[in-house]
Amino acid sequence: MALNRILVVAEFFAGAPLAASLELLTKARQLADTVEAVTWGDDPQSVAAPLGAYGARRVYHAGELGGKLPGVPVAAAIAALVQSDGAPDAILIPTTYDGRDIAGRLSARLDRSVLTNVVDLVADDGALVSEHAIFGGTEILNARFTGPAPAIFVVRSKSFAAEEADEATTPEVIAVTPGELGAADTATITERHVEERTGPKLDEAAVVVSGGRGLGEAGRYQLIEELARLLHGAPGASRAIVDAGWVPYAYQVGQTGKTVKPTVYLAAGISGATQHMVGMKGAKHIIAINKDAEAPIFSIADLGIVGDVQKVLPKLVEALKARS
Ligand code: FAD
Repeated sequence: MALNRILVVAEFFAGAPLAASLELLTKARQLADTVEAVTWGDDPQSVAAPLGAYGARRVYHAGELGGKLPGVPVAAAIAALVQSDGAPDAILIPTTYDGRDIAGRLSARLDRSVLTNVVDLVADDGALVSEHAIFGGTEILNARFTGPAPAIFVVRSKSFAAEEADEATTPEVIAVTPGELGAADTATITERHVEERTGPKLDEAAVVVSGGRGLGEAGRYQLIEELARLLHGAPGASRAIVDAGWVPYAYQVGQTGKTVKPTVYLAAGISGATQHMVGMKGAKHIIAINKDAEAPIFSIADLGIVGDVQKVLPKLVEALKARS
Protein backbone atom coordinates (compact mmCIF):
# COMPACT_ATOMS: atom_id res chain seq x y z
CA MET A 1 0.00 0.00 0.00
CA ALA A 2 1.44 3.37 -1.05
CA LEU A 3 1.93 6.19 1.41
CA ASN A 4 -0.12 9.32 1.24
CA ARG A 5 2.46 12.14 1.24
CA ILE A 6 6.27 12.39 1.32
CA LEU A 7 8.25 15.61 1.73
CA VAL A 8 11.75 15.77 0.21
CA VAL A 9 14.44 18.27 1.22
CA ALA A 10 15.74 19.62 -2.10
CA GLU A 11 19.14 21.28 -2.04
CA PHE A 12 20.37 23.48 -4.87
CA PHE A 13 23.92 24.41 -5.81
CA ALA A 14 24.76 27.05 -8.44
CA GLY A 15 21.15 27.17 -9.57
CA ALA A 16 20.70 23.42 -10.09
CA PRO A 17 19.22 20.79 -7.76
CA LEU A 18 21.72 18.33 -6.29
CA ALA A 19 21.54 14.86 -7.83
CA ALA A 20 21.02 13.45 -4.31
CA SER A 21 17.75 15.42 -4.01
CA LEU A 22 16.53 14.29 -7.44
CA GLU A 23 17.24 10.67 -6.46
CA LEU A 24 14.99 11.14 -3.42
CA LEU A 25 12.18 12.75 -5.44
CA THR A 26 12.32 9.80 -7.86
CA LYS A 27 12.09 7.28 -5.03
CA ALA A 28 9.35 9.26 -3.25
CA ARG A 29 7.23 9.05 -6.44
CA GLN A 30 7.36 5.27 -6.27
CA LEU A 31 6.37 5.25 -2.60
CA ALA A 32 3.67 7.90 -2.16
CA ASP A 33 0.65 9.37 -3.92
CA THR A 34 1.83 12.95 -3.36
CA VAL A 35 5.41 14.20 -3.42
CA GLU A 36 6.32 17.62 -2.11
CA ALA A 37 9.66 19.39 -1.79
CA VAL A 38 11.06 21.98 0.57
CA THR A 39 13.89 24.25 -0.54
CA TRP A 40 15.38 27.72 -0.06
CA GLY A 41 17.43 30.31 -1.95
CA ASP A 42 17.18 33.66 -3.65
CA ASP A 43 14.91 32.80 -6.57
CA PRO A 44 11.71 30.92 -5.56
CA GLN A 45 10.33 30.79 -9.12
CA SER A 46 13.39 29.08 -10.65
CA VAL A 47 13.02 26.01 -8.40
CA ALA A 48 9.56 24.98 -9.63
CA ALA A 49 10.48 23.60 -13.07
CA PRO A 50 13.44 21.34 -12.10
CA LEU A 51 11.59 19.92 -9.08
CA GLY A 52 8.34 19.53 -11.04
CA ALA A 53 10.23 17.55 -13.68
CA TYR A 54 10.97 14.97 -10.96
CA GLY A 55 7.39 14.82 -9.73
CA ALA A 56 7.09 17.42 -6.94
CA ARG A 57 3.47 18.57 -6.81
CA ARG A 58 4.10 21.40 -4.33
CA VAL A 59 7.30 23.25 -3.40
CA TYR A 60 7.66 24.96 -0.04
CA HIS A 61 10.21 27.75 -0.09
CA ALA A 62 11.90 28.78 3.13
CA GLY A 63 13.15 32.05 1.65
CA GLU A 64 16.46 33.68 0.93
CA LEU A 65 18.59 32.88 3.97
CA GLY A 66 20.85 35.91 3.75
CA GLY A 67 24.15 34.05 4.03
CA LYS A 68 22.97 31.91 6.94
CA LEU A 69 23.44 28.14 7.20
CA PRO A 70 20.18 26.39 6.22
CA GLY A 71 20.07 23.99 9.21
CA VAL A 72 18.28 26.25 11.68
CA PRO A 73 15.81 28.14 9.42
CA VAL A 74 14.91 25.20 7.18
CA ALA A 75 14.31 22.82 10.13
CA ALA A 76 12.15 25.53 11.72
CA ALA A 77 10.26 26.09 8.45
CA ILE A 78 9.54 22.35 8.08
CA ALA A 79 8.40 22.15 11.71
CA ALA A 80 6.07 25.13 11.13
CA LEU A 81 4.72 23.41 8.03
CA VAL A 82 4.03 20.19 9.94
CA GLN A 83 2.17 22.25 12.55
CA SER A 84 0.05 24.14 10.03
CA ASP A 85 -0.58 21.54 7.30
CA GLY A 86 -0.26 18.26 9.22
CA ALA A 87 2.60 15.78 9.10
CA PRO A 88 3.62 14.03 5.87
CA ASP A 89 4.14 10.29 6.26
CA ALA A 90 7.88 10.72 5.80
CA ILE A 91 10.56 13.34 5.25
CA LEU A 92 13.49 12.29 3.05
CA ILE A 93 16.75 14.21 3.45
CA PRO A 94 19.96 13.69 1.45
CA THR A 95 23.17 12.80 3.29
CA THR A 96 24.90 16.14 2.78
CA TYR A 97 26.39 18.48 5.37
CA ASP A 98 23.33 20.74 5.29
CA GLY A 99 20.95 17.78 5.08
CA ARG A 100 22.37 16.24 8.26
CA ASP A 101 22.21 19.60 10.01
CA ILE A 102 18.54 20.02 9.05
CA ALA A 103 17.72 16.43 10.12
CA GLY A 104 19.21 16.78 13.60
CA ARG A 105 17.49 20.08 14.30
CA LEU A 106 14.19 18.82 12.87
CA SER A 107 14.38 15.77 15.11
CA ALA A 108 14.69 18.02 18.15
CA ARG A 109 11.90 20.37 17.03
CA LEU A 110 9.41 17.59 16.15
CA ASP A 111 10.50 15.19 18.88
CA ARG A 112 10.92 12.38 16.34
CA SER A 113 13.86 10.03 15.79
CA VAL A 114 15.98 10.20 12.66
CA LEU A 115 17.11 7.11 10.77
CA THR A 116 20.44 7.79 9.04
CA ASN A 117 22.64 5.98 6.54
CA VAL A 118 19.57 4.69 4.69
CA VAL A 119 20.35 2.83 1.45
CA ASP A 120 16.85 1.62 0.51
CA LEU A 121 13.20 2.30 1.37
CA VAL A 122 10.25 -0.05 0.86
CA ALA A 123 6.55 0.69 1.46
CA ASP A 124 5.04 -1.95 3.72
CA ASP A 125 1.48 -1.79 4.99
CA GLY A 126 1.28 2.01 4.80
CA ALA A 127 4.66 2.59 6.45
CA LEU A 128 8.27 2.69 5.27
CA VAL A 129 10.85 0.04 6.03
CA SER A 130 14.36 1.40 5.67
CA GLU A 131 17.51 -0.53 4.87
CA HIS A 132 20.85 0.42 6.40
CA ALA A 133 24.30 -0.92 5.52
CA ILE A 134 26.20 -1.32 8.79
CA PHE A 135 29.63 -2.57 9.89
CA GLY A 136 31.27 -1.24 6.75
CA GLY A 137 28.53 -2.65 4.55
CA THR A 138 29.00 -6.24 5.73
CA GLU A 139 25.57 -6.38 7.43
CA ILE A 140 22.19 -5.06 6.33
CA LEU A 141 19.74 -3.85 8.96
CA ASN A 142 16.03 -3.14 8.38
CA ALA A 143 14.14 -0.63 10.51
CA ARG A 144 10.71 0.96 10.68
CA PHE A 145 9.24 3.83 12.64
CA THR A 146 6.45 2.86 14.99
CA GLY A 147 5.70 6.31 16.40
CA PRO A 148 3.55 9.11 14.97
CA ALA A 149 4.39 10.69 11.58
CA PRO A 150 6.56 12.07 10.18
CA ALA A 151 9.28 9.44 9.92
CA ILE A 152 12.59 11.19 9.16
CA PHE A 153 15.14 9.43 6.93
CA VAL A 154 18.61 10.63 5.94
CA VAL A 155 19.48 8.74 2.75
CA ARG A 156 22.92 8.05 1.26
CA SER A 157 23.49 9.42 -2.23
CA LYS A 158 23.41 6.96 -5.15
CA SER A 159 20.99 4.70 -3.30
CA PHE A 160 18.47 5.31 -6.11
CA ALA A 161 18.71 6.39 -9.75
CA ALA A 162 17.39 9.88 -10.54
CA GLU A 163 14.76 9.68 -13.29
CA GLU A 164 12.42 12.37 -14.54
CA ALA A 165 8.69 11.75 -14.12
CA ASP A 166 6.72 10.62 -17.20
CA GLU A 167 4.68 13.79 -16.89
CA ALA A 168 6.33 16.91 -15.52
CA THR A 169 4.19 18.99 -13.21
CA THR A 170 4.31 22.74 -12.62
CA PRO A 171 4.31 22.82 -8.84
CA GLU A 172 2.84 25.62 -6.86
CA VAL A 173 5.59 27.42 -4.89
CA ILE A 174 4.45 28.28 -1.37
CA ALA A 175 6.46 30.50 0.97
CA VAL A 176 7.00 29.09 4.45
CA THR A 177 8.42 31.21 7.23
CA PRO A 178 10.54 29.76 9.97
CA GLY A 179 9.37 32.19 12.67
CA GLU A 180 11.54 33.49 15.48
CA LEU A 181 14.88 31.63 15.51
CA GLY A 182 16.74 33.25 18.39
CA ALA A 183 20.44 32.77 19.11
CA ALA A 184 20.61 29.44 17.24
CA ASP A 185 20.53 31.35 13.94
CA THR A 186 23.48 33.65 14.46
CA ALA A 187 26.11 31.70 12.45
CA THR A 188 26.78 33.13 8.99
CA ILE A 189 28.74 31.80 6.04
CA THR A 190 31.85 33.95 5.64
CA GLU A 191 33.51 32.14 2.73
CA ARG A 192 32.87 29.27 0.35
CA HIS A 193 35.61 27.12 -1.13
CA VAL A 194 34.75 25.19 -4.26
CA GLU A 195 37.10 22.33 -5.07
CA GLU A 196 38.67 22.91 -8.48
CA ARG A 197 38.25 20.19 -11.07
CA THR A 198 38.45 19.93 -14.82
CA GLY A 199 36.49 16.71 -15.49
CA PRO A 200 33.15 15.37 -14.24
CA LYS A 201 32.22 15.26 -10.54
CA LEU A 202 33.47 12.12 -8.80
CA ASP A 203 30.04 10.99 -7.64
CA GLU A 204 28.42 11.68 -11.01
CA ALA A 205 31.12 10.44 -13.42
CA ALA A 206 30.43 7.51 -15.75
CA VAL A 207 34.06 6.39 -15.38
CA VAL A 208 36.03 6.54 -12.13
CA VAL A 209 39.74 5.70 -11.92
CA SER A 210 40.91 5.30 -8.33
CA GLY A 211 44.38 4.82 -6.92
CA GLY A 212 45.51 3.31 -3.62
CA ARG A 213 48.61 2.73 -1.54
CA GLY A 214 49.88 0.26 -4.15
CA LEU A 215 50.88 3.27 -6.28
CA GLY A 216 53.89 3.46 -3.96
CA GLU A 217 54.35 7.23 -3.85
CA ALA A 218 52.30 10.44 -4.19
CA GLY A 219 53.87 11.45 -7.52
CA ARG A 220 52.46 8.35 -9.25
CA TYR A 221 48.91 9.60 -8.64
CA GLN A 222 49.37 11.67 -11.78
CA LEU A 223 49.04 8.40 -13.75
CA ILE A 224 45.56 8.01 -12.21
CA GLU A 225 44.65 11.59 -13.14
CA GLU A 226 45.94 11.15 -16.67
CA LEU A 227 44.07 7.90 -17.16
CA ALA A 228 40.87 9.46 -15.79
CA ARG A 229 41.28 12.40 -18.17
CA LEU A 230 41.82 10.15 -21.20
CA LEU A 231 38.69 8.17 -20.27
CA HIS A 232 36.66 11.37 -19.65
CA GLY A 233 36.22 10.20 -16.09
CA ALA A 234 36.99 11.39 -12.57
CA PRO A 235 39.97 10.42 -10.39
CA GLY A 236 39.25 8.82 -7.01
CA ALA A 237 41.24 7.38 -4.13
CA SER A 238 41.32 5.00 -1.21
CA ARG A 239 41.40 6.45 2.27
CA ALA A 240 44.97 5.21 2.75
CA ILE A 241 46.32 7.79 0.29
CA VAL A 242 43.96 10.53 1.49
CA ASP A 243 45.24 9.99 5.03
CA ALA A 244 48.80 10.02 3.68
CA GLY A 245 48.13 13.47 2.21
CA TRP A 246 48.64 12.44 -1.42
CA VAL A 247 45.21 13.72 -2.51
CA PRO A 248 42.42 15.79 -0.91
CA TYR A 249 39.57 14.19 1.05
CA ALA A 250 37.15 15.13 -1.76
CA TYR A 251 38.72 12.27 -3.78
CA GLN A 252 37.97 9.56 -1.22
CA VAL A 253 35.64 6.71 -2.18
CA GLY A 254 34.10 4.52 0.52
CA GLN A 255 32.25 4.37 3.78
CA THR A 256 33.62 7.68 5.05
CA GLY A 257 34.04 9.18 1.60
CA LYS A 258 31.87 9.31 -1.51
CA THR A 259 29.58 6.60 -2.84
CA VAL A 260 30.01 6.20 -6.60
CA LYS A 261 27.99 4.18 -9.12
CA PRO A 262 29.79 4.67 -12.44
CA THR A 263 29.52 2.46 -15.49
CA VAL A 264 33.22 1.59 -15.08
CA TYR A 265 35.27 1.72 -11.87
CA LEU A 266 38.99 1.04 -12.17
CA ALA A 267 40.84 0.35 -8.91
CA ALA A 268 44.63 0.50 -9.16
CA GLY A 269 46.75 -0.64 -6.21
CA ILE A 270 43.71 -0.84 -3.92
CA SER A 271 43.35 -3.93 -1.70
CA GLY A 272 39.54 -3.88 -1.46
CA ALA A 273 38.87 -3.29 2.24
CA THR A 274 35.13 -3.51 3.01
CA GLN A 275 35.13 0.23 3.87
CA HIS A 276 36.36 0.99 0.34
CA MET A 277 34.14 -1.52 -1.44
CA VAL A 278 30.94 -0.25 0.21
CA GLY A 279 31.44 3.00 -1.72
CA MET A 280 32.01 1.50 -5.19
CA LYS A 281 30.56 -2.00 -5.38
CA GLY A 282 27.44 -0.61 -7.12
CA ALA A 283 29.55 0.19 -10.22
CA LYS A 284 28.33 -1.60 -13.33
CA HIS A 285 31.76 -2.91 -14.33
CA ILE A 286 34.74 -3.15 -11.97
CA ILE A 287 38.32 -3.46 -13.17
CA ALA A 288 41.09 -4.08 -10.63
CA ILE A 289 44.85 -3.94 -11.01
CA ASN A 290 46.78 -5.46 -8.10
CA LYS A 291 50.03 -7.39 -7.85
CA ASP A 292 48.51 -9.72 -5.24
CA ALA A 293 46.23 -12.31 -6.87
CA GLU A 294 44.58 -12.87 -3.47
CA ALA A 295 43.61 -9.18 -2.98
CA PRO A 296 39.92 -8.95 -1.88
CA ILE A 297 39.13 -6.42 -4.63
CA PHE A 298 39.31 -9.27 -7.16
CA SER A 299 36.29 -10.92 -5.46
CA ILE A 300 34.02 -8.20 -6.90
CA ALA A 301 35.99 -7.37 -10.08
CA ASP A 302 34.60 -8.18 -13.53
CA LEU A 303 38.09 -7.87 -14.96
CA GLY A 304 41.15 -8.49 -12.80
CA ILE A 305 44.70 -7.71 -13.86
CA VAL A 306 47.34 -9.30 -11.66
CA GLY A 307 50.25 -7.00 -12.23
CA ASP A 308 52.36 -4.07 -11.12
CA VAL A 309 50.58 -0.71 -11.42
CA GLN A 310 53.89 0.89 -12.30
CA LYS A 311 53.99 -1.23 -15.45
CA VAL A 312 50.28 -1.59 -16.29
CA LEU A 313 49.19 2.06 -15.85
CA PRO A 314 51.82 3.64 -18.17
CA LYS A 315 50.98 1.02 -20.83
CA LEU A 316 47.28 1.82 -20.53
CA VAL A 317 47.94 5.57 -20.79
CA GLU A 318 50.20 5.00 -23.80
CA ALA A 319 47.59 2.81 -25.54
CA LEU A 320 44.80 5.33 -24.95
CA LYS A 321 46.95 8.22 -26.19
CA ALA A 322 47.72 6.28 -29.33
CA ARG A 323 43.99 5.85 -29.96
CA SER A 324 42.99 9.44 -29.34
P1 FAD B 1 46.19 -1.16 1.23
O1 FAD B 1 45.15 -1.89 1.97
O2 FAD B 1 47.51 -1.01 1.87
O3 FAD B 1 46.35 -1.91 -0.15
C1 FAD B 1 47.31 -1.62 -1.12
C2 FAD B 1 47.17 -2.66 -2.21
O4 FAD B 1 48.06 -2.36 -3.23
C3 FAD B 1 47.47 -4.10 -1.76
O5 FAD B 1 46.41 -4.95 -2.11
C4 FAD B 1 48.74 -4.46 -2.52
O6 FAD B 1 48.76 -5.83 -2.93
C5 FAD B 1 48.62 -3.56 -3.73
N1 FAD B 1 49.92 -3.21 -4.33
C6 FAD B 1 51.08 -2.85 -3.68
N2 FAD B 1 52.04 -2.53 -4.59
C7 FAD B 1 51.47 -2.71 -5.81
C8 FAD B 1 51.95 -2.55 -7.13
N3 FAD B 1 53.19 -2.13 -7.40
N4 FAD B 1 51.09 -2.84 -8.17
C9 FAD B 1 49.82 -3.27 -7.94
N5 FAD B 1 49.33 -3.43 -6.69
C10 FAD B 1 50.14 -3.14 -5.64
N6 FAD B 1 39.05 3.19 3.10
C11 FAD B 1 38.60 3.72 1.95
O7 FAD B 1 39.19 3.52 0.87
N7 FAD B 1 37.50 4.53 1.96
C12 FAD B 1 36.79 4.80 3.08
O8 FAD B 1 35.83 5.56 3.04
C13 FAD B 1 37.25 4.22 4.32
N8 FAD B 1 36.59 4.44 5.47
C14 FAD B 1 37.01 3.80 6.61
C15 FAD B 1 36.28 3.95 7.79
C16 FAD B 1 36.69 3.31 8.93
C17 FAD B 1 35.87 3.50 10.19
C18 FAD B 1 37.86 2.52 8.93
C19 FAD B 1 38.31 1.81 10.18
C20 FAD B 1 38.59 2.37 7.78
C21 FAD B 1 38.21 3.02 6.60
N9 FAD B 1 38.92 2.88 5.42
C22 FAD B 1 38.41 3.41 4.27
C23 FAD B 1 40.27 2.26 5.38
C24 FAD B 1 40.24 0.85 4.86
O9 FAD B 1 40.00 -0.05 5.94
C25 FAD B 1 41.63 0.50 4.25
O10 FAD B 1 42.62 0.73 5.20
C26 FAD B 1 41.95 1.30 2.99
O11 FAD B 1 40.88 1.25 2.08
C27 FAD B 1 43.20 0.70 2.34
O12 FAD B 1 43.58 1.46 1.24
P2 FAD B 1 44.44 0.79 0.07
O13 FAD B 1 43.68 -0.32 -0.52
O14 FAD B 1 44.89 1.90 -0.80
O15 FAD B 1 45.73 0.29 0.84
